[in-house]
Parts: sequence; C-alpha cells; structure tokens
Amino acid sequence: MDDGKKQDSKSIKMGTKHKESGINYCKWCGAPTAMEQLQMANTPILEFIEEKIDKLGRNRVWSSGANWSELDLDSDDEAELLVYDEMLNTIELKHVCEQCVLTDNELWKKYYSEEDDDIRFDKNF
Ligand SMILES: [Zn+2]
Repeated sequence: MDDGKKQDSKSIKMGTKHKESGINYCKWCGAPTAMEQLQMANTPILEFIEEKIDKLGRNRVWSSGANWSELDLDSDDEAELLVYDEMLNTIELKHVCEQCVLTDNELWKKYYSEEDDDIRFDKNF
C-alpha cells in the first residue's frame, strides 16, 4: 500500500476550466452569453407569480393604496410578492442573455404594457 503517491496524482486544479474569454453568464438563467451588460431588474418577470397577481386582482395588489390584509393572501404568498416586487424594482447593470431579454419583453407586454411601453425605463428611482 502506498497511499501517499495516490494523493499526489490527485491534485486536480479546480475552477480553471474557463478562462476569461468574453463569455459571461446570464444572471437570470445561467446560460453563457456574449451580450453586453444591460440595466435589468434582479428578477425576470415570473409568469406563475403574475398569474397569482391576476387572480388576486392586479389593481388591488399593486395600487398605491393597496391593503394586502384585505386580499386573500397567505403569508407565503405575501412574502413571495414582497420579494418579487423588490427584485423587479431593483434595476442594475447585469449580464442577461438574449433569450431572457426576449422572453421578459414578451411577458412585460403581456402583463404590464396597457398604457405605455416605456414606463419601466422612465422611472426614476
Ligand atoms: Zn438567460
């Protein structure tokens, strides 16, 4: 038995597989992307949450005077909505792949664009 030698041959280098080569990873889905950084929310629009919001009544959930205690929300849903709202409203430079941008655009149109397509980008935070 000579376990000392075995250990030696096992010195695998971790984390050096990918060299910096201009490939970045989508913050939303993790896919590699060559896109430039974009001002994007911390979460894509999530259809299953939007559907919940529609069920609850979009105006009742998002209106400025919304009183969530009057809604049929359990505490898990409420926590989820709070986090979602917070992340959607946090816009930062990040890498997002083209597919995610396209999907997000579609969902944005579907759920938020009744009035003005540019609302999202004109907001001053
Ligand atoms: Zn992506």
